[in-house]
Amino acid sequence: MKASDKDIINFQTEHSTALPIQLDVFESLFPFAFAFDQSMKLTLSNPSLRKMMPELVPGKPLIDFFSIVKPNIALNFEAISAKTGSLQTWRLLNGSALQGQLFENKEKDLLFFVGTPVVADASEIKSLNLTANDFALHDSTLKHLFMLQAQKTAVADSTEMVEALRRNAIEKERLENIQSELALELDIGFDIKVRFKDDGTIIDIQVSSNLEMTVDSASKVGKSLFKELDFLGDSLQKAVAETEQNGRSLFFNFKIGKGRNTRYFESRLARTSDDICLMLANDVSERYRMQMQLERRANFDYLTNLPNRVHFNERLNKLSGGETLDNKLHTIINIDLDNFKHINSRYGNAAGDHVLRRISEILLNSTRIEDIPARLGGDEFVVFFSGDHKQEEMTKAAQRILEKIREPINFEGQELKCNCSIGVAFSTQTKPDLELLQRQANLAMEVAKDGGKGKVTTYVDGMYEKSKERLELRDQLVRAIENKKLSIAYQPIVWTNTAKVKGFEALARWIDEDKGFVPPDVFIEIAEESGLMIPLGRTIMDIALKGFAQFIANNDSRQSLTLAINVSVHQLYDAGFVHDLNSCLKAYELNSRQIILEITETAFIRDITIAIDMLNELKSHGFKLALDDFGTGFSSLGYLEHLPLDILKIDRSFINKIESEESNVPLVNAILSIAKELNFETVAEGIETDEQRLFLQASNCVYSQGYYFSKPLNIEQLNELEL
Ligand code: C2E
Ligand code: CA
Ligand code: CA
Repeated sequence: MKASDKDIINFQTEHSTALPIQLDVFESLFPFAFAFDQSMKLTLSNPSLRKMMPELVPGKPLIDFFSIVKPNIALNFEAISAKTGSLQTWRLLNGSALQGQLFENKEKDLLFFVGTPVVADASEIKSLNLTANDFALHDSTLKHLFMLQAQKTAVADSTEMVEALRRNAIEKERLENIQSELALELDIGFDIKVRFKDDGTIIDIQVSSNLEMTVDSASKVGKSLFKELDFLGDSLQKAVAETEQNGRSLFFNFKIGKGRNTRYFESRLARTSDDICLMLANDVSERYRMQMQLERRANFDYLTNLPNRVHFNERLNKLSGGETLDNKLHTIINIDLDNFKHINSRYGNAAGDHVLRRISEILLNSTRIEDIPARLGGDEFVVFFSGDHKQEEMTKAAQRILEKIREPINFEGQELKCNCSIGVAFSTQTKPDLELLQRQANLAMEVAKDGGKGKVTTYVDGMYEKSKERLELRDQLVRAIENKKLSIAYQPIVWTNTAKVKGFEALARWIDEDKGFVPPDVFIEIAEESGLMIPLGRTIMDIALKGFAQFIANNDSRQSLTLAINVSVHQLYDAGFVHDLNSCLKAYELNSRQIILEITETAFIRDITIAIDMLNELKSHGFKLALDDFGTGFSSLGYLEHLPLDILKIDRSFINKIESEESNVPLVNAILSIAKELNFETVAEGIETDEQRLFLQASNCVYSQGYYFSKPLNIEQLNELEL
């Protein structure tokens, strides 16, 4: 039978990916299952259930047949779907009960009850109109009944019977009795029945017609069963020994055949006399394959087919326990994508999936069979390498992986760009602590991320303490913001020609009680990474405007001075930014025309059209806009004409090279002439020498800023300044 789409059932599993099962497999796996929709009508009922109650057909309302005994909930779709996964007991109105679990389909508009009747003994099965064949092969109800049956038979054997059973004839009769009794009462059809001696010698063997091609029964008589079957797990010999000890029946598995023709069997073993055993086996190949598939799902990531976190850890554990770790170097690299969320939100989940699959391909192509690449979840990957390598080689390998990941990924005609941060950790011990190694690689990855992303960072001793120090710094920064323990240094911006002060740039300063002076690049970065930039920016803004307002108050000659404030991307994208800024201006009686907002090129990476809209809004409030650190960002001259800017600040890296051999004079001149064409004012940053000043004067860069003119000044120094 070939399955059409209609015959596929999509189960929702806890891993949230749907598990497609063919309808016929579903029926044989779960013969008592049924499904129903939101209107509480049956949409499917499997054959054995219908045998119990023929009226249970699709379309029928559940309320006419069932009540829920456990948990205590009403027959209501929502109430029931809130309890998926828990063990439940449902009672049929004729008194019999089903025990099982509920699952939902992918679309969540159907619920599946997968269970089995609650029965105490074989006679109950009969009273339900069922035979053993109506149960799924893996149903523990049957195992349980078989056991009861075997025990019952054993109890029935009186002492004198035991004596008599020593004789072969009676033993045979007894065997046949057991068989027929079982077959009668349970109506179980076995695929293979073998009687054999304790030493394994086969006395007789019967196989069902569908197995006649696979098992040549006639040729097996007299041979050793122990050698004829391929046991999975415990050996039959051990099982035989155990039945001898405790007289119970045992379950075990074996397989016959090779490759695609392999058949898997589940079998029960019972002792029928002192030295003769009976093995009854069922062909469970279908279910076994299904189980393997499920196991694969539990161990391997559905999307990329790489081992998942659980399986990765299991394999590392196995390695740790084994003797296989005698290589010279063990390396773990931890890979985390830098902008994966962005890909998902901008291009859709299908694009995201495509990227993850591509990464797994890269990892598989960059590793050998003995290495273990895995997907830890989300956009995080890991690889364990073991071998006679050098650390430098492995660092290079990690670097190559990073470069490969950086290459544009083609998806439906679009080029997706992905960057990643990689952490590397090494161990040269013969018995390395792989768990520790994994944590070290993870920490190194986090440090790579903190340090600006897109790079490979190797774990070094002390890294943990350093990242701990960053955390401490973060906590202290939180307190500094709360208590306004920050100050502002005002650096003059001057006319290049005359050195007359045109305005100031406000630069944040933080002097911590314990740590002393913390450079602004350091704490600004910490604030940006830990979500503190908005409160920090607000505090700085407040202090800077307040100081500036006091400085110019009641002094006519100072009214034309401007104040430049650095605005981080986070602030720019913060919905409250303009409001905060305006209320601050109002509080200190300042005018937006006196304020310049310095923005860096990072503001345009996310979405340039949104950024342009925001800049236009700021301009509409009267602020002047400056592009800070120009020439160091992600792209340059090309997009300038589209931006509503007033001022271009040429980064000091251009200026301090002017006198050196790798001078950027032509480039600086090109920037200045384009700025002129676009009507932007220009400020050169970081002027330290007279030579630099002269060059900028000659090149008509109107404004300058730098130590040559003045270092950043605190409030007292500011007031001493002669203007
Ligand atoms: P920036 O915005 O480029 O600020 C100019 C930096 O150059 C300041 O460093 C200033 O002291 C320094 N500088 C000025 N003239 C010279 C010179 O002649 N030679 C040299 N070598 N350096 C000079 P600072 O104060 O350490 O600030 C560093 C960076 O921290 C700033 O770079 C800015 O990106 C950031 N930052 C400072 N304050 C704030 C703030 O309030 N908000 C935001 N978002 N970032 C800030
Ligand atoms: Ca600046
Ligand atoms: Ca700057």
